[in-house]
Amino acid sequence: MQLDLDFFKVRDYLYEHDKAGIEEVADATGVARKAIMYLLKEERLLVGDENGYNGGILKCESCKKPINTGRMCAGCKNELIKALQPDAPLSKPKPLPNEDIEEESIKGVAKLQLSGRKRR
Ligand SMILES: [Zn+2]
Repeated sequence: MQLDLDFFKVRDYLYEHDKAGIEEVADATGVARKAIMYLLKEERLLVGDENGYNGGILKCESCKKPINTGRMCAGCKNELIKALQPDAPLSKPKPLPNEDIEEESIKGVAKLQLSGRKRR
């Protein structure tokens, strides 16, 4: 899958250049900015500097709080998980908006990091 190839390229670049900006990573790897945004939403990458500032590129899809990875902030995720429990009162969780990613909204100041897995 193309996105996997893109991820490997970005990952390899971040091994050598930790916290590189999105613009830098996109230019250096040839991976589309849009693909990087998808990787962020899939929680395969994190965005944010040492203060957690994410350049305003990633927001919780429910409450619009800035987040560093994925689609929702921890609070909204918990709400959703609770709502999905079998014994939860019957209220359907809101469907996620399926908005298109605006490439123009991607700012160069945002710093990328690898999520999760241990390095090397
Ligand atoms: Zn939220």
